[in-house]
Amino acid sequence: MNLSISGLYNKLYEYFGETGWWPAETRDEVVIGAILTQNTSWSNVEKALFEMKRNGVRTLEDIASLPVEQLATYIRSSGFYNQKSRRLHNLATKILEKYGKLDFMSVESMTDLENFLLPINGIGQETMDSVLLYALDKPAFAVDKYTIRIFGRTGIIDDPTLYSVKNAVNKDLGNDVPMLKNFHGMLVYLAKDFCKTKPKCDECPVRNDCAYYKANRK
Ligand code: SF4
Repeated sequence: MNLSISGLYNKLYEYFGETGWWPAETRDEVVIGAILTQNTSWSNVEKALFEMKRNGVRTLEDIASLPVEQLATYIRSSGFYNQKSRRLHNLATKILEKYGKLDFMSVESMTDLENFLLPINGIGQETMDSVLLYALDKPAFAVDKYTIRIFGRTGIIDDPTLYSVKNAVNKDLGNDVPMLKNFHGMLVYLAKDFCKTKPKCDECPVRNDCAYYKANRK
């Protein structure tokens, strides 16, 4: 029998526990990181965040008041830095204009927030869900390509897609925001440490419940 989503959560929790994901000190830093992490590794994001902080840029207000060309020099390590600089500046400006600060934004409904965020240039579903869940404490679930890979290999969902995974997770885990946050964090660690392009199944904490492992073990 295939593992359920809550079953996978429990297996991962036994191994990883509380991950504390997303790695950020403030709501503003989550939003900044959600743009910077597009198409790059988290280690490159960390370098860009370090450079921003070194230059006194920590908040959406700081970003909105900077010329995009200058911001681009600080985030060079994250790749696509001219595009990301424009996206960050635009997003920060729009949030500040409409809500003033993220604390005020967080009291809006999910539907209103989705209607606000999704039309903004550079905000796709994954970025939006990361902002909703980690910056605004809403019960969204951020699905990335690693999540889809893990769901497909373990056999939890046949032919998983971004939307089928999101819906299935919300159906099983409900609106439990701390759980949704930690689940994504544990999946990040599982993909990074075990379920890589070439998986390290023999050491994986969920191998005994994984369809891929069962089908391929010698
Ligand atoms: S057993 Fe292998 S394929 Fe399955 S989740 Fe672990 S690393 Fe991925």
